[in-house]
Amino acid sequence: MGRVTKGRHRSCMFCDQRDSPPSDEDVLAKWVARLWPKGAGFRVDFETVGEATAIESFQAPKGTLGLIVKRPCRRCNNGWMSQLENLAKPILTPMILGRVSSVAAHGIALEHQIVIARWLLKVAMAYEFLRGRQPRFYSRGERLALMQGSIPERTGIWAGYYTGERVARTIDTNENIPLLLSNGVTGSAYSFTLSLGRLVLQSYTHRFATAVHGRYTFRYLAVWNEMSVELWPRATGNVRWPPPYGIDDDRLSDFADRWAKRGTSE
Ligand SMILES: [Zn+2]
Repeated sequence: MGRVTKGRHRSCMFCDQRDSPPSDEDVLAKWVARLWPKGAGFRVDFETVGEATAIESFQAPKGTLGLIVKRPCRRCNNGWMSQLENLAKPILTPMILGRVSSVAAHGIALEHQIVIARWLLKVAMAYEFLRGRQPRFYSRGERLALMQGSIPERTGIWAGYYTGERVARTIDTNENIPLLLSNGVTGSAYSFTLSLGRLVLQSYTHRFATAVHGRYTFRYLAVWNEMSVELWPRATGNVRWPPPYGIDDDRLSDFADRWAKRGTSE
């Protein structure tokens, strides 16, 4: 990248600098865990789908959702990441708690959609580093750009209303999804789905071996338009909330898997 990386610490996953020590980042912030009354820790379900589907559950320590990465530096964690959490908290709180009336009156405002999109991508990018893993999809440049406020190109963000039984669930694709356009250009994609309380969020990014120019749309079964709303990049104004139908646990699995099943998205 040709960036100056002075200092003695491991380079930060976002700013790529070494001058600030690594810090513990809750991939799902503690303020989310604190939305529920104090009690036993939550069951958090991790799921990866694809060639080797794996489901794992664990009991999070009290007051957290238990997903920690040590890769952002202290400056990032206490700076822009903390500011983004503070922006997201009042927007996401009524959605996570299922208090639809306050949001439904006006829908999700455009500036709130962008905050949600940035917040979810911060989660998805940090999630890639869980348990010492090497990130499979998002690049150093895309993480740096997110820090500076940019959403990766060819990314979509959707939100749905969860009606299932679980408190927190993550589902990502454990292999990059192979894509093939009709003109023979190949590509790959990654999707990350998160349910927190009553809120489902999903990000999907695709890229191609050769630059593909022009406008793009994300194609999926029309039924998902009844169960989710697109927050990025299509919206030009407030988005209705909630969608006409909720997403239960079975549908959540299908929702998370919808990109892999299509095989192509262009
Ligand atoms: Zn940093």
